Amino acid sequence: MEQKLFVYNTLSRKKEEFKPITPGRVGMYVCGPTVYGDAHLGHARPAITFDVLFRYLQHIGYKVRYVRNITDVGHLEHDADEGEDKIAKKARLEQLEPMEVAQYYTNRFHDAMAALNVLPPSIEPHATGHIIEQIQLVKEIMDNGYAYESEGSVYFDVPKYNKVYRYGKLSGRNLEDVINNSRELDGVGEKHNQVDFALWKSAQPQHIMRWPSPWSDGFPGWHCECTAMGRKYLGNHFDIHGGGMDLIFPHHECEIAQAVASQGSDMVNYWMHNNMITINGQKMGKSLGNFITLSQFFSGEHESLAQAYSPMTIRFFILQAHYRSTVDFSNEALQASEKGLSRLMEGMKNLKQITPASAPGSVTMDYVNELESKCYEAMNDDLNTPIVISHLFDVCRVLNTIVDKKATIDAPTLEALTKVFHTFALDILGLKEEVGSNSGREEAFGKVVDMLLEQRMIAKANKDWATSDKIRDSLAELGFEVKDTKDGFSWKLNR
Ligand code: ZN
Repeated sequence: MEQKLFVYNTLSRKKEEFKPITPGRVGMYVCGPTVYGDAHLGHARPAITFDVLFRYLQHIGYKVRYVRNITDVGHLEHDADEGEDKIAKKARLEQLEPMEVAQYYTNRFHDAMAALNVLPPSIEPHATGHIIEQIQLVKEIMDNGYAYESEGSVYFDVPKYNKVYRYGKLSGRNLEDVINNSRELDGVGEKHNQVDFALWKSAQPQHIMRWPSPWSDGFPGWHCECTAMGRKYLGNHFDIHGGGMDLIFPHHECEIAQAVASQGSDMVNYWMHNNMITINGQKMGKSLGNFITLSQFFSGEHESLAQAYSPMTIRFFILQAHYRSTVDFSNEALQASEKGLSRLMEGMKNLKQITPASAPGSVTMDYVNELESKCYEAMNDDLNTPIVISHLFDVCRVLNTIVDKKATIDAPTLEALTKVFHTFALDILGLKEEVGSNSGREEAFGKVVDMLLEQRMIAKANKDWATSDKIRDSLAELGFEVKDTKDGFSWKLNR
Protein backbone atom coordinates (compact mmCIF):
# COMPACT_ATOMS: atom_id res chain seq x y z
CA MET A 1 0.00 0.00 0.00
CA GLU A 2 1.30 3.43 -0.91
CA GLN A 3 1.78 5.75 2.08
CA LYS A 4 1.42 9.53 1.94
CA LEU A 5 3.85 10.98 4.45
CA PHE A 6 3.37 14.51 5.76
CA VAL A 7 6.23 16.27 7.54
CA TYR A 8 6.46 19.65 9.23
CA ASN A 9 8.82 21.89 7.30
CA THR A 10 10.50 24.47 9.54
CA LEU A 11 11.06 26.69 6.50
CA SER A 12 7.40 26.93 5.42
CA ARG A 13 6.12 26.54 9.00
CA LYS A 14 3.53 23.97 7.96
CA LYS A 15 3.03 20.29 7.37
CA GLU A 16 3.70 19.36 3.76
CA GLU A 17 3.31 16.16 1.84
CA PHE A 18 6.75 14.64 1.38
CA LYS A 19 7.69 14.51 -2.30
CA PRO A 20 11.24 13.43 -3.10
CA ILE A 21 13.30 15.11 -5.83
CA THR A 22 14.06 11.74 -7.43
CA PRO A 23 11.17 9.25 -7.36
CA GLY A 24 11.86 6.38 -4.97
CA ARG A 25 14.98 7.96 -3.50
CA VAL A 26 15.60 10.20 -0.52
CA GLY A 27 18.71 12.20 0.37
CA MET A 28 18.80 13.13 4.03
CA TYR A 29 21.40 15.02 6.04
CA VAL A 30 21.42 15.32 9.82
CA CYS A 31 23.93 17.30 11.88
CA GLY A 32 25.91 14.89 14.03
CA PRO A 33 27.82 15.43 17.26
CA THR A 34 30.88 17.54 18.00
CA VAL A 35 33.12 14.86 19.43
CA TYR A 36 34.79 16.42 22.46
CA GLY A 37 32.75 14.73 25.23
CA ASP A 38 30.30 11.94 25.95
CA ALA A 39 26.92 12.01 24.24
CA HIS A 40 24.10 13.06 26.58
CA LEU A 41 20.33 12.73 26.55
CA GLY A 42 20.10 15.81 24.32
CA HIS A 43 22.08 13.93 21.62
CA ALA A 44 19.85 10.88 21.87
CA ARG A 45 16.81 12.83 20.72
CA PRO A 46 17.88 13.88 17.19
CA ALA A 47 19.61 10.51 16.74
CA ILE A 48 16.41 8.62 17.60
CA THR A 49 14.02 11.02 15.83
CA PHE A 50 15.88 10.81 12.53
CA ASP A 51 16.51 7.09 12.99
CA VAL A 52 12.72 6.61 13.07
CA LEU A 53 12.37 8.77 9.95
CA PHE A 54 15.19 6.78 8.24
CA ARG A 55 13.51 3.49 9.19
CA TYR A 56 10.05 4.67 8.14
CA LEU A 57 11.15 6.06 4.76
CA GLN A 58 12.80 2.72 4.02
CA HIS A 59 9.78 0.82 5.27
CA ILE A 60 7.45 2.65 2.89
CA GLY A 61 9.74 1.80 0.00
CA TYR A 62 12.33 4.55 -0.44
CA LYS A 63 16.01 3.99 -0.99
CA VAL A 64 17.52 6.43 1.50
CA ARG A 65 21.01 7.90 1.54
CA TYR A 66 21.37 9.12 5.10
CA VAL A 67 24.38 11.33 5.84
CA ARG A 68 25.20 12.22 9.45
CA ASN A 69 28.46 14.04 10.02
CA ILE A 70 31.05 14.02 12.79
CA THR A 71 32.25 17.51 13.75
CA ASP A 72 35.90 17.18 14.63
CA VAL A 73 37.13 20.69 13.86
CA GLY A 74 35.93 24.27 13.78
CA HIS A 75 33.29 24.23 16.52
CA LEU A 76 34.47 27.11 18.69
CA GLU A 77 33.47 27.75 22.26
CA HIS A 78 31.47 30.96 21.98
CA ASP A 79 28.52 31.05 19.58
CA ALA A 80 30.41 28.48 17.53
CA ASP A 81 32.48 31.29 16.06
CA GLU A 82 34.74 32.76 18.76
CA GLY A 83 37.18 31.40 21.29
CA GLU A 84 39.05 28.14 21.35
CA ASP A 85 38.19 25.07 19.27
CA LYS A 86 36.32 22.65 21.59
CA ILE A 87 38.32 19.61 20.54
CA ALA A 88 41.68 21.40 20.53
CA LYS A 89 40.94 22.67 24.05
CA LYS A 90 40.16 19.20 25.36
CA ALA A 91 43.34 17.89 23.68
CA ARG A 92 45.42 20.66 25.28
CA LEU A 93 43.97 20.02 28.75
CA GLU A 94 44.48 16.26 28.52
CA GLN A 95 47.76 16.42 26.58
CA LEU A 96 46.38 14.38 23.71
CA GLU A 97 46.50 14.67 19.94
CA PRO A 98 43.18 16.31 18.88
CA MET A 99 42.37 13.31 16.67
CA GLU A 100 42.77 11.07 19.75
CA VAL A 101 40.06 13.08 21.46
CA ALA A 102 37.83 12.97 18.37
CA GLN A 103 38.34 9.22 17.85
CA TYR A 104 37.77 8.37 21.51
CA TYR A 105 34.44 10.22 21.68
CA THR A 106 33.40 9.04 18.22
CA ASN A 107 33.83 5.43 19.39
CA ARG A 108 31.85 6.13 22.54
CA PHE A 109 29.13 7.85 20.51
CA HIS A 110 28.87 4.79 18.24
CA ASP A 111 28.59 2.48 21.27
CA ALA A 112 25.79 4.60 22.75
CA MET A 113 23.97 4.70 19.38
CA ALA A 114 24.21 0.92 19.01
CA ALA A 115 22.83 0.45 22.53
CA LEU A 116 19.90 2.74 21.61
CA ASN A 117 19.35 0.63 18.46
CA VAL A 118 19.99 3.67 16.25
CA LEU A 119 20.96 2.41 12.80
CA PRO A 120 24.27 3.68 11.44
CA PRO A 121 23.88 6.30 8.70
CA SER A 122 24.76 5.45 5.09
CA ILE A 123 27.72 7.86 5.19
CA GLU A 124 29.35 9.42 8.25
CA PRO A 125 31.76 12.06 6.93
CA HIS A 126 34.23 13.89 9.17
CA ALA A 127 34.81 17.62 8.85
CA THR A 128 38.60 17.17 8.93
CA GLY A 129 38.34 14.80 5.96
CA HIS A 130 36.67 17.51 3.86
CA ILE A 131 38.88 20.58 4.21
CA ILE A 132 39.37 20.81 0.43
CA GLU A 133 35.61 20.84 -0.21
CA GLN A 134 35.16 23.52 2.46
CA ILE A 135 37.92 25.70 0.97
CA GLN A 136 36.21 25.31 -2.41
CA LEU A 137 32.89 26.47 -0.91
CA VAL A 138 34.55 29.54 0.64
CA LYS A 139 36.14 30.39 -2.73
CA GLU A 140 32.78 30.21 -4.51
CA ILE A 141 31.15 32.49 -1.93
CA MET A 142 34.04 34.97 -2.29
CA ASP A 143 33.86 34.83 -6.09
CA ASN A 144 30.17 35.74 -5.89
CA GLY A 145 31.04 38.68 -3.66
CA TYR A 146 29.44 37.59 -0.41
CA ALA A 147 32.59 37.04 1.62
CA TYR A 148 35.77 39.01 2.31
CA GLU A 149 39.21 38.31 3.66
CA SER A 150 40.47 40.05 6.77
CA GLU A 151 43.79 39.30 8.51
CA GLY A 152 43.94 35.84 6.90
CA SER A 153 40.40 34.93 7.96
CA VAL A 154 37.36 34.93 5.69
CA TYR A 155 33.96 36.20 6.80
CA PHE A 156 30.51 35.94 5.28
CA ASP A 157 29.11 39.42 4.59
CA VAL A 158 25.65 39.07 6.10
CA PRO A 159 24.27 42.60 5.41
CA LYS A 160 25.39 42.44 1.75
CA TYR A 161 23.76 39.03 1.32
CA ASN A 162 20.61 40.26 3.04
CA LYS A 163 20.21 43.04 0.45
CA VAL A 164 19.70 40.45 -2.27
CA TYR A 165 18.41 37.39 -0.41
CA ARG A 166 16.83 37.06 2.98
CA TYR A 167 19.05 36.19 5.92
CA GLY A 168 16.89 34.76 8.72
CA LYS A 169 14.14 33.05 6.71
CA LEU A 170 14.51 29.74 8.56
CA SER A 171 14.57 31.15 12.07
CA GLY A 172 12.05 33.87 11.24
CA ARG A 173 14.43 36.61 12.36
CA ASN A 174 15.23 39.73 10.45
CA LEU A 175 18.68 41.24 10.29
CA GLU A 176 17.78 44.02 12.72
CA ASP A 177 16.80 41.49 15.41
CA VAL A 178 20.01 39.60 14.85
CA ILE A 179 22.06 42.78 15.17
CA ASN A 180 20.19 43.81 18.33
CA ASN A 181 20.63 40.37 19.87
CA SER A 182 24.32 39.93 19.14
CA ARG A 183 26.54 40.54 22.10
CA GLU A 184 28.18 43.97 22.42
CA LEU A 185 31.13 42.24 24.03
CA ASP A 186 32.12 40.41 20.88
CA GLY A 187 33.06 43.65 19.21
CA VAL A 188 33.65 43.86 15.51
CA GLY A 189 37.41 43.16 15.48
CA GLU A 190 38.52 42.02 12.06
CA LYS A 191 34.90 41.58 10.85
CA HIS A 192 33.21 44.34 8.83
CA ASN A 193 29.93 43.77 10.69
CA GLN A 194 29.14 42.24 14.04
CA VAL A 195 26.69 39.75 12.42
CA ASP A 196 29.20 38.38 9.90
CA PHE A 197 30.26 34.80 10.55
CA ALA A 198 33.56 33.03 9.91
CA LEU A 199 34.03 30.83 6.86
CA TRP A 200 37.75 30.39 7.46
CA LYS A 201 39.76 31.28 10.54
CA SER A 202 43.44 32.04 10.52
CA ALA A 203 45.12 29.93 13.23
CA GLN A 204 47.05 31.46 16.08
CA PRO A 205 50.65 30.17 16.28
CA GLN A 206 49.81 27.80 19.19
CA HIS A 207 46.73 26.36 17.43
CA ILE A 208 47.41 22.71 16.52
CA MET A 209 44.52 21.98 14.14
CA ARG A 210 45.53 23.87 10.98
CA TRP A 211 45.53 23.42 7.22
CA PRO A 212 46.99 25.52 4.40
CA SER A 213 44.56 27.65 2.38
CA PRO A 214 44.80 30.58 -0.08
CA TRP A 215 44.22 32.95 2.86
CA SER A 216 46.21 31.53 5.77
CA ASP A 217 47.14 28.41 7.66
CA GLY A 218 43.93 27.90 9.54
CA PHE A 219 40.71 25.95 9.80
CA PRO A 220 37.14 26.18 8.46
CA GLY A 221 34.25 27.86 10.28
CA TRP A 222 31.81 25.37 11.78
CA HIS A 223 28.89 26.08 9.42
CA CYS A 224 30.91 25.27 6.29
CA GLU A 225 31.22 21.54 6.86
CA CYS A 226 27.52 20.65 6.57
CA THR A 227 27.04 22.68 3.39
CA ALA A 228 30.20 21.24 1.80
CA MET A 229 29.59 17.62 2.82
CA GLY A 230 25.84 17.72 2.17
CA ARG A 231 26.56 18.90 -1.37
CA LYS A 232 29.33 16.37 -1.92
CA TYR A 233 27.26 13.34 -0.95
CA LEU A 234 23.68 14.42 -1.71
CA GLY A 235 24.08 16.93 -4.55
CA ASN A 236 23.21 20.62 -4.97
CA HIS A 237 19.59 19.92 -4.09
CA PHE A 238 18.48 17.28 -1.66
CA ASP A 239 15.35 16.33 0.24
CA ILE A 240 15.70 16.52 4.01
CA HIS A 241 18.00 18.31 6.41
CA GLY A 242 17.48 17.61 10.09
CA GLY A 243 18.82 18.45 13.50
CA GLY A 244 17.87 19.80 16.89
CA MET A 245 15.90 23.05 17.13
CA ASP A 246 18.90 24.67 18.82
CA LEU A 247 20.72 24.43 15.48
CA ILE A 248 18.17 26.52 13.55
CA PHE A 249 20.07 29.66 14.49
CA PRO A 250 22.80 30.36 13.71
CA HIS A 251 23.97 27.02 12.26
CA HIS A 252 21.23 26.15 9.76
CA GLU A 253 20.52 29.77 8.93
CA CYS A 254 24.19 30.12 7.99
CA GLU A 255 24.08 26.87 6.00
CA ILE A 256 21.23 28.29 3.90
CA ALA A 257 23.13 31.56 3.37
CA GLN A 258 26.27 29.65 2.30
CA ALA A 259 24.33 27.47 -0.14
CA VAL A 260 22.47 30.39 -1.69
CA ALA A 261 25.58 32.62 -1.83
CA SER A 262 27.60 29.87 -3.55
CA GLN A 263 25.12 28.28 -5.95
CA GLY A 264 22.34 30.88 -6.15
CA SER A 265 19.62 28.61 -4.72
CA ASP A 266 18.58 26.67 -1.62
CA MET A 267 19.96 23.22 -1.20
CA VAL A 268 17.29 21.67 1.01
CA ASN A 269 13.58 21.03 0.42
CA TYR A 270 12.44 20.00 3.91
CA TRP A 271 14.05 21.32 7.07
CA MET A 272 13.06 19.21 10.06
CA HIS A 273 13.90 19.92 13.70
CA ASN A 274 13.34 18.03 16.89
CA ASN A 275 12.52 19.91 20.07
CA MET A 276 14.76 19.95 23.14
CA ILE A 277 14.95 17.84 26.27
CA THR A 278 14.66 20.02 29.33
CA ILE A 279 15.69 19.41 32.89
CA ASN A 280 13.63 21.45 35.35
CA GLY A 281 12.36 23.41 32.39
CA GLN A 282 15.85 24.35 31.14
CA LYS A 283 17.48 23.03 27.99
CA MET A 284 19.87 20.15 28.70
CA GLY A 285 23.27 20.82 27.22
CA LYS A 286 26.98 20.62 27.71
CA SER A 287 27.38 24.37 27.64
CA LEU A 288 24.81 24.71 30.45
CA GLY A 289 26.49 22.06 32.61
CA ASN A 290 23.17 20.39 33.51
CA PHE A 291 23.48 17.39 31.25
CA ILE A 292 23.46 13.69 32.11
CA THR A 293 25.44 11.50 29.72
CA LEU A 294 23.93 8.40 28.14
CA SER A 295 26.45 6.14 29.87
CA GLN A 296 25.43 7.69 33.20
CA PHE A 297 21.79 6.85 32.40
CA PHE A 298 22.75 3.27 31.52
CA SER A 299 24.76 2.81 34.76
CA GLY A 300 22.63 4.97 37.06
CA GLU A 301 25.76 6.77 38.27
CA HIS A 302 24.67 10.39 38.55
CA GLU A 303 23.35 12.29 41.54
CA SER A 304 20.10 13.19 39.73
CA LEU A 305 19.30 9.57 38.84
CA ALA A 306 17.27 7.37 41.20
CA GLN A 307 18.30 4.22 39.30
CA ALA A 308 19.88 2.95 36.08
CA TYR A 309 17.74 3.17 32.92
CA SER A 310 18.24 0.75 30.06
CA PRO A 311 18.91 2.09 26.55
CA MET A 312 15.47 0.89 25.39
CA THR A 313 13.82 2.76 28.28
CA ILE A 314 15.57 5.93 27.07
CA ARG A 315 14.48 5.24 23.48
CA PHE A 316 10.90 4.56 24.54
CA PHE A 317 10.87 7.69 26.74
CA ILE A 318 11.89 9.81 23.74
CA LEU A 319 9.36 8.17 21.40
CA GLN A 320 6.51 8.67 23.87
CA ALA A 321 6.60 12.38 23.01
CA HIS A 322 6.09 13.83 19.54
CA TYR A 323 9.49 14.94 18.26
CA ARG A 324 8.35 18.57 18.01
CA SER A 325 7.23 18.74 21.67
CA THR A 326 9.57 19.42 24.54
CA VAL A 327 10.30 16.55 26.91
CA ASP A 328 11.10 17.26 30.52
CA PHE A 329 13.44 14.83 32.19
CA SER A 330 12.45 13.39 35.56
CA ASN A 331 12.97 10.07 37.31
CA GLU A 332 9.18 9.65 37.55
CA ALA A 333 8.76 10.08 33.79
CA LEU A 334 11.53 7.58 33.06
CA GLN A 335 10.13 5.07 35.52
CA ALA A 336 6.74 5.39 33.82
CA SER A 337 8.47 4.72 30.47
CA GLU A 338 10.17 1.67 31.92
CA LYS A 339 6.77 0.30 32.95
CA GLY A 340 5.24 1.16 29.58
CA LEU A 341 8.06 -0.56 27.73
CA SER A 342 7.72 -3.73 29.79
CA ARG A 343 3.98 -3.71 29.01
CA LEU A 344 4.84 -3.71 25.30
CA MET A 345 7.42 -6.45 25.76
CA GLU A 346 4.84 -8.47 27.74
CA GLY A 347 2.51 -8.04 24.76
CA MET A 348 5.23 -9.35 22.46
CA LYS A 349 5.66 -12.38 24.72
CA ASN A 350 1.91 -12.99 24.73
CA LEU A 351 1.86 -12.92 20.91
CA LYS A 352 4.37 -15.78 20.98
CA GLN A 353 2.61 -17.81 23.66
CA ILE A 354 -1.09 -17.50 22.90
CA THR A 355 -2.67 -20.71 21.63
CA PRO A 356 -4.92 -19.77 18.71
CA ALA A 357 -8.54 -20.94 18.64
CA SER A 358 -9.52 -23.43 15.97
CA ALA A 359 -12.76 -21.57 15.13
CA PRO A 360 -12.95 -17.87 14.13
CA GLY A 361 -12.24 -15.87 17.28
CA SER A 362 -13.73 -12.74 18.82
CA VAL A 363 -10.64 -10.73 17.79
CA THR A 364 -11.15 -10.31 14.06
CA MET A 365 -9.10 -9.50 10.98
CA ASP A 366 -11.06 -6.21 10.82
CA TYR A 367 -9.50 -5.25 14.14
CA VAL A 368 -6.02 -5.99 12.78
CA ASN A 369 -6.62 -4.10 9.53
CA GLU A 370 -7.96 -1.10 11.37
CA LEU A 371 -5.01 -1.19 13.78
CA GLU A 372 -2.58 -1.25 10.86
CA SER A 373 -4.17 1.69 9.09
CA LYS A 374 -4.35 3.71 12.32
CA CYS A 375 -0.64 3.13 12.93
CA TYR A 376 0.23 4.21 9.38
CA GLU A 377 -2.03 7.22 9.72
CA ALA A 378 -0.13 8.29 12.87
CA MET A 379 3.29 7.79 11.25
CA ASN A 380 2.18 9.63 8.12
CA ASP A 381 1.09 12.55 10.28
CA ASP A 382 4.59 13.92 10.84
CA LEU A 383 5.86 10.80 12.66
CA ASN A 384 3.36 10.78 15.50
CA THR A 385 5.08 8.06 17.52
CA PRO A 386 3.10 8.61 20.78
CA ILE A 387 -0.11 7.77 18.91
CA VAL A 388 1.48 4.63 17.42
CA ILE A 389 2.49 3.60 20.94
CA SER A 390 -1.05 4.14 22.22
CA HIS A 391 -2.37 1.82 19.48
CA LEU A 392 0.21 -0.80 20.46
CA PHE A 393 -0.88 -0.50 24.10
CA ASP A 394 -4.41 -1.24 22.94
CA VAL A 395 -3.11 -4.46 21.36
CA CYS A 396 -1.51 -5.39 24.71
CA ARG A 397 -4.89 -4.87 26.41
CA VAL A 398 -6.62 -7.11 23.84
CA LEU A 399 -3.91 -9.77 24.25
CA ASN A 400 -4.48 -9.78 28.01
CA THR A 401 -8.19 -10.50 27.49
CA ILE A 402 -7.17 -13.47 25.33
CA VAL A 403 -4.72 -14.70 27.99
CA ASP A 404 -7.51 -14.35 30.57
CA LYS A 405 -9.76 -16.43 28.30
CA LYS A 406 -12.24 -13.58 27.87
CA ALA A 407 -11.56 -13.40 24.14
CA THR A 408 -10.25 -15.70 21.41
CA ILE A 409 -8.21 -15.32 18.23
CA ASP A 410 -7.69 -17.75 15.36
CA ALA A 411 -4.31 -18.61 13.86
CA PRO A 412 -4.36 -16.39 10.71
CA THR A 413 -5.56 -13.38 12.73
CA LEU A 414 -2.90 -13.98 15.38
CA GLU A 415 -0.27 -14.17 12.65
CA ALA A 416 -1.45 -10.92 11.07
CA LEU A 417 -1.61 -9.19 14.45
CA THR A 418 1.93 -10.33 15.26
CA LYS A 419 3.15 -8.99 11.94
CA VAL A 420 1.63 -5.53 12.47
CA PHE A 421 2.90 -5.36 16.05
CA HIS A 422 6.43 -6.35 15.03
CA THR A 423 6.47 -3.97 12.06
CA PHE A 424 5.63 -0.94 14.17
CA ALA A 425 7.28 -1.80 17.50
CA LEU A 426 10.50 -3.37 16.18
CA ASP A 427 11.10 -2.22 12.58
CA ILE A 428 9.75 1.33 12.71
CA LEU A 429 9.99 2.45 16.34
CA GLY A 430 13.22 0.43 16.57
CA LEU A 431 12.50 -1.11 19.97
CA LYS A 432 14.13 -4.40 20.86
CA GLU A 433 14.09 -6.89 23.66
CA GLU A 434 16.94 -6.29 26.07
CA VAL A 435 18.64 -9.20 27.74
CA GLY A 436 19.50 -8.25 31.29
CA SER A 437 16.81 -5.59 31.53
CA ASN A 438 13.90 -6.21 33.86
CA SER A 439 11.78 -7.79 31.16
CA GLY A 440 14.74 -9.86 29.90
CA ARG A 441 15.48 -11.12 33.40
CA GLU A 442 11.82 -11.96 33.95
CA GLU A 443 11.75 -13.97 30.77
CA ALA A 444 14.85 -15.96 31.75
CA PHE A 445 13.40 -16.56 35.18
CA GLY A 446 10.10 -17.78 33.68
CA LYS A 447 12.01 -20.22 31.50
CA VAL A 448 13.69 -21.70 34.60
CA VAL A 449 10.27 -22.32 36.18
CA ASP A 450 9.11 -23.95 32.93
CA MET A 451 12.17 -26.19 32.99
CA LEU A 452 11.42 -27.35 36.56
CA LEU A 453 7.82 -28.11 35.66
CA GLU A 454 8.91 -30.07 32.59
CA GLN A 455 11.07 -32.19 34.92
CA ARG A 456 8.00 -32.68 37.10
CA MET A 457 6.02 -33.95 34.08
CA ILE A 458 8.79 -36.44 33.33
CA ALA A 459 8.75 -37.56 37.00
CA LYS A 460 4.95 -37.99 36.83
CA ALA A 461 5.19 -40.00 33.63
CA ASN A 462 7.68 -42.25 35.42
CA LYS A 463 5.31 -42.46 38.41
CA ASP A 464 8.07 -40.87 40.51
CA TRP A 465 5.56 -39.17 42.80
CA ALA A 466 8.17 -38.17 45.40
CA THR A 467 10.06 -35.96 42.89
CA SER A 468 6.88 -34.63 41.31
CA ASP A 469 5.44 -33.59 44.71
CA LYS A 470 8.73 -32.11 45.86
CA ILE A 471 8.92 -29.81 42.81
CA ARG A 472 5.30 -28.70 43.23
CA ASP A 473 5.63 -28.14 47.00
CA SER A 474 8.93 -26.27 46.74
CA LEU A 475 7.46 -23.96 44.10
CA ALA A 476 4.33 -23.46 46.23
CA GLU A 477 6.51 -22.44 49.17
CA LEU A 478 8.07 -19.75 46.98
CA GLY A 479 4.59 -18.49 46.07
CA PHE A 480 4.06 -20.25 42.72
CA GLU A 481 0.61 -21.58 41.99
CA VAL A 482 0.93 -24.59 39.68
CA LYS A 483 -2.04 -26.03 37.79
CA ASP A 484 -2.15 -29.19 35.75
CA THR A 485 -3.84 -28.63 32.42
CA LYS A 486 -4.80 -31.02 29.66
CA ASP A 487 -1.73 -30.15 27.57
CA GLY A 488 0.74 -29.87 30.46
CA PHE A 489 0.82 -27.17 33.10
CA SER A 490 0.36 -23.49 33.83
CA TRP A 491 1.77 -21.41 36.63
CA LYS A 492 1.67 -17.97 38.10
CA LEU A 493 3.52 -16.23 40.87
CA ASN A 494 1.27 -14.97 43.68
CA ARG A 495 3.03 -12.19 45.49
ZN1 ZN B 1 25.47 20.87 10.76
